[in-house]
Amino acid sequence: MKKDDHDGKGSYIIVLYLDKSKKIQIGKLGQLKFKKGYYAYVGSAFGPGGLKSRIKHHIEPKKSYHWHIDYLDPAVKEVWVSGYGERLEHEWAGLLGEIASEKIIGFGCSDCSCESHLFYFKSFRILQNFQKVLFKKNMLLLGFD
Ligand SMILES: [Zn+2]
Repeated sequence: MKKDDHDGKGSYIIVLYLDKSKKIQIGKLGQLKFKKGYYAYVGSAFGPGGLKSRIKHHIEPKKSYHWHIDYLDPAVKEVWVSGYGERLEHEWAGLLGEIASEKIIGFGCSDCSCESHLFYFKSFRILQNFQKVLFKKNMLLLGFD
């Protein structure tokens, strides 16, 4: 896979930042209180269009919300991608759950046995260290704004 080729299928991590605490309605999950700080969301795109169309979905304004994460779209800062066609989202969710300040229980994980697919970090440093570990393992190809 070429570095500039996002047509593949694979898993991704979305990094979000909220500049102040706020309550946000997340579909059927209800209204949740989000603290100021950083969030990491894990997902994967194995459908038609793969990662390219999924990332486009996440960074473009939308008229209707489909996934829990869609309700947080204005806060999206970066997307980290693994284009190796592996399903890594649940493994990442497990790893992030161990290092996160908090997990948002039930978020983005209706279809799996994870406790959550969204994790809160008071500081960005811990997340950056996690990104370095993923790069070392060649799990991540790129991160971009
Ligand atoms: Zn999962």
